[in-house]
Parts: sequence; C-alpha cells; structure tokens
Amino acid sequence: MEKAATTDALDHTPVTVLKGVGPRNAEKLGRLGIETVQDVLFHLPLRYQDRTRITPMGAVRHGDQVVVEGVVDHSEVRFGRRRSLLVHLADGTGAVVLRFFYFSAAQQANLSAGARLRCFGEVRNGPAGMEMVHPEYKRVQGDEPLAVEAHLTPIYPTTEGVHQLTLRGLADKALAMLAADPGALPEWLPAEIRERFQLPPLLDAVQYIHRPPPDADQGRLFEGTHPAQRRLAFEELLAHQISLRQLRARSRRTPAPPLAGDGELRARLLDALPFKLTGAQHRVAEEIARDLAAHRPMLRLVQGDVGSGKTVVAALAALQAVEADHQVAFMAPTELLAEQHLKSLRGWLDPLGVEVAWLTGRHKGSRRAALLETLLEGKARVAVGTHALFQEEVQFHALGLVIIDEQHRFGVHQRMALREKGRGDGRVPHQLIMTATPIPRTLAMTAYADLDLSVIDELPPGRTPVTTVAIPDSRRDEVMARVREACANGRQAYWVCTLIEESEALQCQAAEDTAAMLAEQLPNLHVGLVHGRLKAAEKEAVMAAFKAGEIELLVATTVIEVGVDVPNASLMIIENPERLGLAQLHQLRGRVGRGATRSHCVLMYHAPLSGTSKERLAVMRATNDGFEIARKDLELRGPGEVLGTRQTGEMALRIADLSRDERLLTQVQQVADQMLSRHPENAHALVRRWLGRRERYGEV
Ligand code: ADP
Ligand code: MG
Repeated sequence: MEKAATTDALDHTPVTVLKGVGPRNAEKLGRLGIETVQDVLFHLPLRYQDRTRITPMGAVRHGDQVVVEGVVDHSEVRFGRRRSLLVHLADGTGAVVLRFFYFSAAQQANLSAGARLRCFGEVRNGPAGMEMVHPEYKRVQGDEPLAVEAHLTPIYPTTEGVHQLTLRGLADKALAMLAADPGALPEWLPAEIRERFQLPPLLDAVQYIHRPPPDADQGRLFEGTHPAQRRLAFEELLAHQISLRQLRARSRRTPAPPLAGDGELRARLLDALPFKLTGAQHRVAEEIARDLAAHRPMLRLVQGDVGSGKTVVAALAALQAVEADHQVAFMAPTELLAEQHLKSLRGWLDPLGVEVAWLTGRHKGSRRAALLETLLEGKARVAVGTHALFQEEVQFHALGLVIIDEQHRFGVHQRMALREKGRGDGRVPHQLIMTATPIPRTLAMTAYADLDLSVIDELPPGRTPVTTVAIPDSRRDEVMARVREACANGRQAYWVCTLIEESEALQCQAAEDTAAMLAEQLPNLHVGLVHGRLKAAEKEAVMAAFKAGEIELLVATTVIEVGVDVPNASLMIIENPERLGLAQLHQLRGRVGRGATRSHCVLMYHAPLSGTSKERLAVMRATNDGFEIARKDLELRGPGEVLGTRQTGEMALRIADLSRDERLLTQVQQVADQMLSRHPENAHALVRRWLGRRERYGEV
C-alpha cells in the first residue's frame, strides 16, 4: 500500500480521453469543475434513485420514487381542464394510472390495452387513485424479462447542457478505467490511519459512492455520513489541513527581525492615554510583545468585539517596532476606516515625535512621489492606508510589522501574498491581524489555521449596553420624533439606509433621498450625509463635522459599518434591518454605546417579516454579545456564509462540509502532523490531489 509517491495518473488524464467528450462537452464539464478523469470520480452524486427492484403496485405510497411493472388494462383520453392521456396499469396487487399531458399518436398506440410496461417515476395521490405523471417507461416485449438495475441510480449535480445520462456514462467510463488500472488513483492514507478511523480503502469508497449496491443505507448516503463518503471527506479535509500546516511552516521559516524595543515610547503612550488598558487588552498586548521580540515572524489574529479597543493594542505593537528602528504598515479595507485609524494614530503618536504617513490610491503625481520617498528613507515610521500600501512601487526602508484591520475580507492565500511583499533582505515582517468578527471554531481550524489567536474578551468599563427595539416603518413619525428629542438633548444620531440591490449607486441614491427628506422634516437639525461615492475629502469633512458635533444627524449607507468612532452618538436608526445579516447589524450597532450615556438602536423594519428575519431581529434585541451573535449567525446561515464571499470561494470544499463534518475535522487535526512527519510523500501527494490546481489559482 505504501509506495513511493508518484503523481496520480488520473489527475493528469484530461476528461477528453473518455469516449464522447469533445471540446464542446469539455467546456461545459469545466463549469462543473471537471477537467480530468479524477475530477469525474470526485464529482459525487447528490442523491440516488432506487431502480434495483420492482415494487408491487399494492405497496406504493404517495411520494415514493419507484419502478413498477404491469399490463395496460385500458387507456383513455380525458378532456378536462387539460387534455390528458390516462393509462390504467395493473399488476395483480394493485393499479397505477399513468398520466401524460403531452403525447403523440404513436405513443398512444404503444400504450394500448395488453401492453406490458415497466415505469419509473414518483407516485402521487391522483383523482382516481395512485398515479405517475410522465413516468419514464419501457415496453417489455413478450416474456423476455428486463433486468433491473444492479445499483442505486446516482443523481449528479449538473449544469445547463449536461445531461444526467452523460454524467452517469462518464462515471461508468472513469470507473472502468480505474478498474483496469487501480494504481492510477493511489491510496495515500496509510493503513494504520484507515484502521484507526474505520475508513474504507479509497477505491472501494469511490466505487461505492457512484454505484451503491441495492441494500445500501440510503438514509446515511442521503445525509452524506456513509463511511464511503466520510472516507473522501476525511481525505479532503486532511489534505487541506496538511496544506495549511505547510503554509504555516513556510511562513515561519523565513526569519523576521526581532523587535524587542526598550519600551520607552510605549510607556509614554500609556501615560498619555485618558484611560487604563483593560485586563484583556493588557494580556493581548503582552502576547504580541513577546511575538515581536522573536526571530520568527509573528502571525497573530486578534479577535475582539466592536469597541473592545483593538486600535490602541495595535498602536502599542507599532510603537514597539518603532522603538526597534523599524517601520509599520497599517492597512484597513476601506478608505474611511483607514482615515479613522490615521486620526487615532496621529493623535497618539504625533506627541511622541513619531511620523505617521497617509497613503491612498488617490494620491498622485509629485505628492505621491514625495510620500513614497519618506517611506523609502525611513523618515515616516508608520504608514496608514488601504491595500494601496502593497503596490509594487511602495518601498520601505525597514518594514518590521504589518497590521491589518478587519481581515475577514482577506483569505489565507492573500495573506501569504502580503507576507511575500513585505519580504526584504531575506526577512519577512511580523504580521498582526485584527477582526471584530468572532470566528466559529470550525472556521478558525481551517481558514485561520495559519495564525495564532488572541482574544480581547472584555469591553472597557463604563459602557452602557445598547437597548435595541424593533419598530415597523409604518411608525416612521414616532422614530423621527425620537431623533428630534435625542438631538435636542445634545446627543447625536445615525440614520442608516440599506438596500437589497448590490449596486452602490442605488444605495447612495437612497441615502441622498433619505437625507433630503429628513432635512425637510427636521428643519432644526443639521443633517449630514456620507456614502461610498463621496470624494475622500468630502467624506472626511462630513465625518469631522459629525465628530465635532456640528452635524447632529448623520445619514449613511453601510459604509459606516466598521470602525467609525463618535462617542456622543447615542441613537442609531437602521432602516430595513431585515436586509442585513446578524454580523453586519452587530457591527453597525457597535457605532453607538461608545460613551457613558444610555444608547438606543431602532430597527425600523418593513412588515411582514419572514421567519428568519424575525429570529434575527429577536437575537439583536436579546443580546449585545458579539460571540453570542456569531453563534446564532452560524446557526441561521451556515459556516460558508459567515466569512463573506471571498473566503467562501477559497474554502470551497468539493466533498466535505464544515458543519456536517465538524467531527472529521477534529480527527484530521490529530493526524495531519503524523502524516507530515511519518509519511511526508503521501502527505504531499494528498495536497496535490485535492489542492493542486487551487494552490496555483491561489497565487495573488
Ligand atoms: P475596536 O476594537 O472596535 O476597534 P476601538 O479601538 O475603536 O475599538 O476603541 C473604541 C473606543 O474605546 C475608542 O474611543 C478607544 O479610544 C476607547 N478605548 C479603548 N480602550 C479603552 C479602555 N481600556 N478604556 C476606555 N476606553 C477605551
Ligand atoms: Mg476597529
């Protein structure tokens, strides 16, 4: 079983070697992810039909998909609401009516009294007893018996222009190729591991899944928990896990500059802060400080709920790098957020004489050139910006630390690419990633397996929890009265507009209309507007005015979802909250409740609400705890959705399912290291088999 790793032959055999697959078909199959013969074998059925036995008509029930066989007693054309041909079939145990809405004269003749038919279809309760609508049928000639199928019939996931029968035929051919040359799909799981987890051999599993015997446990096959399916899911998850460990090892192999620092700047910042760090902030800052002082690169993810104070922790890390004569790149996913960080950092670092540069895609020409020069010379110690920071021409004098905020928008491979960019003189910078999205365990074990984890699980003291209510938009007047009152009392408010359409232009239009309407209805208030289509300078001016209290009501699209910090804002109206996911609602609501005053969030929904929408709004009313909300989110949406589209694509698993196979994931964790140390060749072969092409795509 254990042989030297060669490449899997079927992985290199294009699907076009199979008879009947020309370039046109190949292109269509490509849409299903099928390019090689191995892909055909790993394209698993969604479900099965049982055509292995003939069911007596007396035993069929509504909803069954069955094969029946009998003799036509009589047939008739009915002219009811729709003309239909009714064929009365009986087998001695009972009767079934076949109903056809479309039929030719030849068909009608073929289905006349005395004909023996075998049919497959779904049975339903018809007006005259059990019936099948448009069943597949075959005439049985004379007394020559027709064989039943030897296996359950697989139903494959398909796409337009690819017929079930085509896929079934391809699988037949691929299985035949495999039977003729079993070595073409080698077994890479050592026997000891298969035995330990009771996994059948690979070839048996593949054969079984495509062609299950008549007595197969259909319930388990349907759930995807049959040992044959588990075997493949296990192998796939193991391949991912091994690959993640390799990435992790590779990332840590290149040395990083040790950034011990003397602590002077950090001490001065802590002295100047108007608050004391929370215990959790302190602990996480220590974890980071230890990592930074080491020769191997830090790869750490800091999770902390909205408002838990991640920025100051990042600032401390930045100062440690500066103390050690290195530079820091601080990246945020949007310009608005980057600007926010810029302000916080300048507020803290300017007094310490540490220069913070601002780099966006909008800076052009000589201004940009001058900026790049200060980074290259090392004069600017900290650079804040969006992904523009990682463009080719941005060069640092001595980049020691990369900080990325809200990284749930970046995937494992993108992170790798960033690390590579930072590489200079044979060393890589340390990396600190911050997210407010709590990450469920299964995802932490896969999408984030390349990172160490720190959690800020405590909010700064003195915060009063946000009270959340849900009100239908038919009571808009009441809501506006509330805004008027809050602002009259010296508070500020957000009014968030949401839209179903993905189009940013439409979102912005809606926000503009709402702002105009509110300005008219609330003439005593200063109403501001911020959305993604404003110029950076305009946005900045509006935000500055809001922060300074000159604007009392800020109408915004969901661009304010993350990071914006105005402690005096204590009321948030979210229009049509039913259009947003829990995570996004939680992020939005995190913009209020940042000061000592009691804050409120009004979810102004449009009735009627669907069941899940109701549930989501109920969760928002019940709790302010981000981790609790994330758990609910996972329950309601499933793990694939929670990460956002990018990551979902990256983590696209062919066979395994992170929620269904959570237990397998735990098992796979146990064997990944063992595979790498004891069976390295097999480990590499597994990664090639399951991620070969993906890894190439993953290069950014
Ligand atoms: P987030 O984790 O959501 O990024 P921020 O870093 O923006 O949170 O911090 C939110 C607010 O809390 C900021 O105004 C920040 O200055 C303040 N803050 C941070 N740490 C503390 C603390 N220990 N005590 C009081 N306020 C704090
Ligand atoms: Mg933040």
